[in-house]
Order: sequence, then structure tokens, then C-alpha cells
Amino acid sequence: SQIRCEEEDYDLLEKEEEEEVGVPQPVQIVVANEEQHSFFLQEQVLERLLLQKKVQDLHVVVVSVAGAFRKGKSFLLDFMLRYMYKQSSDSWLGGEEEPLTGFTWRGGCERETTGIQAWSDVFVMEKPDHSKVAVLLIDTQGAFDSQSTVKDCATLFALSTMTSSVQLLLFSRLFLLVLSPQLFTEYGRLAMEEVYEKPFQRLMFLIRDWSYPYEHPYGLEGGRSFLDKRLQVKQNQHEELQNVRRHIHSCFSKISCFLLPHPGLKVATNPHFDGRLTDIDGDFKKELVNLVPALLAPENLVEKEIGGVKITCRDLLHYFKAYMKIYQG
Ligand code: GDP
Ligand code: MG
Repeated sequence: SQIRCEEEDYDLLEKEEEEEVGVPQPVQIVVANEEQHSFFLQEQVLERLLLQKKVQDLHVVVVSVAGAFRKGKSFLLDFMLRYMYKQSSDSWLGGEEEPLTGFTWRGGCERETTGIQAWSDVFVMEKPDHSKVAVLLIDTQGAFDSQSTVKDCATLFALSTMTSSVQLLLFSRLFLLVLSPQLFTEYGRLAMEEVYEKPFQRLMFLIRDWSYPYEHPYGLEGGRSFLDKRLQVKQNQHEELQNVRRHIHSCFSKISCFLLPHPGLKVATNPHFDGRLTDIDGDFKKELVNLVPALLAPENLVEKEIGGVKITCRDLLHYFKAYMKIYQG
């Protein structure tokens, strides 16, 4: 794939963006042209996010949720937003009848774009050691759930991996059958380009609609036993695949897996579902309450590091630009 910075497309989106300055909303930072397999960075949008006075010099935590269309990325991110906005309260999950808002755009204004979106509010949080960090929430939409699609979206996937400190890969249960070798090859390739021994911080496989809690229970514990089993290097495996699986452990400081229950039929099938808690299955809500703080509670925040050094929002901007250049060549 190739990357362009097209002034015309850019100006167009720029104008749309400017209409609602100040209103927290998702903003497109990397736009993909699927037909041409090309990408471009919305530099000014990214600058506006990362060079805000309050965050530019803070270490940055980049939480990126990546996955194919309609996998529930926005749904999950909206709960992460609730946590970020109401974190002081135990009732961050929200009111029973409160529609979910944020990354989800409903009522005709839905625009399904492959690419990378960020929440326009960069959150400032205090860690237990009183240091302040900036938290950026990212939605990476591409198709990473089969061999062929991972290849198609390799650039997007690479960008997401290289620029996040916590990468959540959202899969459906089908993941059970694939655990895409292509995906692991991709991680391996990325890691080779880095000199530092563990170039990336955190990877979490998030498996939705898990329906075998009797085999592996919901949540992180079940996820661990499930992942251990899947990542086991078996004697009869193809040698290349064995290497790749071994390698992935050396790419990330921490790899985990979370098994999410099905959210219920209203969520999955009712076109009028607006995200209110009352329509969501209890098991799902119970696991959300574990999952979101595991990622975003002050004591669990993971700053983005490059070459073993924590970077600031301002640095991140430079890295984004540099990575785009690498993939242009
Ligand atoms: P995105 O395209 O990945 O951002 O997906 P959305 O968050 O827009 O969700 C797509 C559809 O899947 C919506 O109808 C959601 O209500 C539904 N959904 C969200 N989370 C889940 C889940 O965990 N399981 C199932 N089966 N459906 C979900
Ligand atoms: Mg979405």
C-alpha cells in the first residue's frame, strides 16, 4: 500500500471537522482509501489533538481498539469514555435508561470509514505516583480477522501497533478457528524493524460472544488459559508458525486475552437499541466492570514507550508523521 497526503481530500474533511470545534467527538486522524489501498494522515487534526497546551508535554497513554467493521469497537469505546468522564464515581457504567453516546454515530450520520479515529478529548489523568499522563482513545477500523484481510490492512495494522501502548484486538469467536498466522507474521515483521528488545507494550486479545465459560471462564483468567492453549507451540506445527508464535512473546511486554460474554439479543439484533444498560445482559455488564478499569484505572495505565523511553504527546505526533513516511517509501 502507499500513502498520500492529498491536500484536496484533506481540506474537505478539515472543513467538516471545524464545524464542531470544542464538542467532544471522534475525529479521523488516518483516512484509508480502500480501493487504492492508500492512507493519508490528517496532520492538522492530529496536531490540534496532541499539541494542546494541557497535554503536549505529558507522557502519553494510547489505547487503541482495533478490529473489523461491526465488531463492537464503538460500543466498547463508548463505555471506556463513560469511565474516563465519570471515573471518580462507582456508577461510571451509567444510568439504566441512558443511551450510549460517543464513537457511535446514530440516526443517519453514521459514516463507516476504514482508518483511525481518535476521541477529540485527550484526558489528563493522575497516576498513583502523582505523575500526570495524557490518555488518548483510538478506534482503528480495518479488517484483521482473516488471513487475506490482515494482509490488505497491513499498513493500518502496523500504524496501530506502532503508535499505541495498549492495543486491543477485537475478534469474534471465529478467532478460535483462525488465530491468524498472517497476523503473527505481521507482528514479527514489525518487531524486526525495531531495535529494542520488547518494542511494544501491551496487546490484549478481546474475544466477544464467548460461549464456553465452562471451558474457559469469562474475563482475564479464562482468557489466559485460553490463550496459553492457543499459543502453545506444538510439535506437529509448521516450523514457520512455531517461530512466529515464539516471536510474538518477545514483541510485547505483556500479552493478555479477555473473554467477553454475548451482550444479549437486543444489543446484537434490535435496530432500535441505543446502548442503554437495561437492554444489555447482566453477565456482559459484569465483565465490562472488570475490563474497562483493567485498562484505564490510574494504576493500570501504560505509557507509550519507544526504544524503552516514555514519549510525550508532542513526540507521538512526530512518530506518527515518521511512520507514515516509512510506509510511503
Ligand atoms: P464497530 O463497527 O466495530 O464500531 O461496531 P459497533 O460498536 O458499531 O457495533 C456493531 C453492532 O454490534 C451493533 O449493532 C452493536 O449493538 C453490536 N454489538 C456490540 N458489541 C457486541 C458484542 O460484543 N457482541 C455482539 N454480538 N454484538 C455486539
Ligand atoms: Mg465503529
